Amino acid sequence: MRKGSKITKGQRISLSNKKRWLDPVFRKKFFKSVRNAHSNPITKKRHRDAALKQWSNTKHRELIKKIFSNPKYKKIKGEISRKMWSNSQFRKRHRIAMTKAQANPKYKKKISKIMRKRSKDPKWRKRHSEAMRKAFASPEARKRRGRAIHNAMNNLEYKKRHNAALREVFKKPVVKKRRSEASKKNWEKPDYKEKHRIALSGENNPSWLGGISFEPYSANWTRALKKSIRERDHYTCQMCGKKTEKQTTCVHHIDYNKKNCKPDNLITLCPSCHVKTNSNRKEWIKYFKTGND
Ligand SMILES: [Zn+2]
Repeated sequence: MRKGSKITKGQRISLSNKKRWLDPVFRKKFFKSVRNAHSNPITKKRHRDAALKQWSNTKHRELIKKIFSNPKYKKIKGEISRKMWSNSQFRKRHRIAMTKAQANPKYKKKISKIMRKRSKDPKWRKRHSEAMRKAFASPEARKRRGRAIHNAMNNLEYKKRHNAALREVFKKPVVKKRRSEASKKNWEKPDYKEKHRIALSGENNPSWLGGISFEPYSANWTRALKKSIRERDHYTCQMCGKKTEKQTTCVHHIDYNKKNCKPDNLITLCPSCHVKTNSNRKEWIKYFKTGND
């Protein structure tokens, strides 16, 4: 805004202004002039001071909020943003600028300060998690994201940096506490235990040695055997009668001897019933040997 020119609020958000912002030539010219002005430290400081002064004015903040929450404005903004991001040159320019900015410790510190402040605000957290849920609601979006993470992790440099950063984060007492509480909560869910066991069993385990370490399970304990037992039991929990999902069905050793893989010692259970068999073992042995089969 030029000094001396008194514009009323109404005029400021006038239609002509909105139209001007839709014009790419105007936007380009405007940002160029801003860049030019900011290359002068004195002008930059003047702009900054003026902006801070303006921002400390509650009325001004309210006005901006009103504009931003206007559906029409949101729509226009969304259209501009979509157009921008569909331009590969813009994306490239943005990526280069971000990499450059991230390399600047001052900028990094500033951003992380903002993020820390935001993440403590319950309102922002709620809004953010809702937006994330919305963004990843479609299977395509989830697939895209998974692929992006996969690609990023294929980059050894990135992986190293990422893991080092995570290690630092996990060292913090607050994070440690939060993580252990979350983990405790998870382990209270019967399904989680079973899913975890499956995720870390056999070939899925990072320390998988190719089948030589079946102890204490018998070497006969194979996928094929488990499948045959599940099929025999019609993928139905033999305790509660519930149909079980193929991935989470458990094949239980009735006598708890994991080397005894005879079909009559094996039985199909759903995750929550399988958890119950962890205690009162004698009772369960009796139950399955007499009551069932
Ligand atoms: Zn069951």
